[in-house]
Amino acid sequence: MKLVDNFNRIHDYIRISLIDKCDLKCIYCNPTNSFAHFDSNNAILSYEELYQLIKILVRDLEVKKVRFTGGEPLIRKDILKFFRIIASLKHKYDFEIGITTNGTQLIEKLESLYQFGVDRLNISLDTLSKSKCIVITGKDYFDQTLASIHKAMSIGFKSVKVNAVIMKNINDDELNSFVDYFKDYPITLRFIEYMPFTGNQWDDSKFMSWEEMKTEIDSKYLLAAIRSDGKVSKDYFVKGTNLKIGFISSISNHFCDSCNRLRITASGRMKNCLFSSASNVSLKKYLSDKSISDENIAEIIKNSLQKKWFKHPSVDELVQLKQNNMMSIGG
Ligand code: SAM
Repeated sequence: MKLVDNFNRIHDYIRISLIDKCDLKCIYCNPTNSFAHFDSNNAILSYEELYQLIKILVRDLEVKKVRFTGGEPLIRKDILKFFRIIASLKHKYDFEIGITTNGTQLIEKLESLYQFGVDRLNISLDTLSKSKCIVITGKDYFDQTLASIHKAMSIGFKSVKVNAVIMKNINDDELNSFVDYFKDYPITLRFIEYMPFTGNQWDDSKFMSWEEMKTEIDSKYLLAAIRSDGKVSKDYFVKGTNLKIGFISSISNHFCDSCNRLRITASGRMKNCLFSSASNVSLKKYLSDKSISDENIAEIIKNSLQKKWFKHPSVDELVQLKQNNMMSIGG
């Protein structure tokens, strides 16, 4: 049974937050780290509950891709044990595993993650300047993150991407520096529009649209559009290099009509859209109740998806939303 919503969108891509805490305080996400305990009323899903949930998703609901995010997924205790367990599911069912990480704790885990079948890594790095990185993230992990990116590229993952949230007067002057730096590497750069979330003090004057970003890169490089099925990212080859770049235009040009994503928060709440403010169904209570069968849980997930809206609200409405912070949702 496929996960299909009321608008005929097939949901075969699930993003699961493994933890609602982070070791960084990025200015655009978690500036005060005040949301570290946002979800503390509900304990996070245990590894056993996550295993059961992922089994239901990939076995019964035909999910093809699971991405783990957070908070910072790799700060969770015994995280490698978790990926070892998930590897056993991967041997039975055909699905891809991705991780989105800030790279601070990644380097020593890379080989194990690769052995456990992780296919795709997205590593966040918003600047190539160590001093600016400290200003953006509130911590000094620049060297570890950059070293992780280099090691990840050498190991053989199916895909390694660098995610950079671009903000005016913060790092918009570095778009071409990113291309210069990575142009000889087998990597994808993803430039992300700055989005409003509760607590990130979103400010229109710092917003840069994907078209403005592209114009800046066009001034130095020749870009060739890559046709892709989904519209989540607007992808280009940088001609004469090995580099692919993608722009994530969630704000200026939403891609809701082709959305195939469903999110599950660290505490097990279903989040039909990154921006849906109300918490949808809480799966933890069903997963921890042995009298409820996997078939029932699959049905609950399917029913909850029927409440998904066709498109997310306008940016003016998004800035008003309460209780919609990246830390608990999982970006
Ligand atoms: N800690 C991990 C990391 O840093 O990649 C995973 C969680 S983080 C919330 C996931 C992604 O969301 C990161 O690529 C981050 O840059 C992005 N993100 C966070 N806040 C954002 C915002 N306000 N606008 C756009 N992207 C944002």
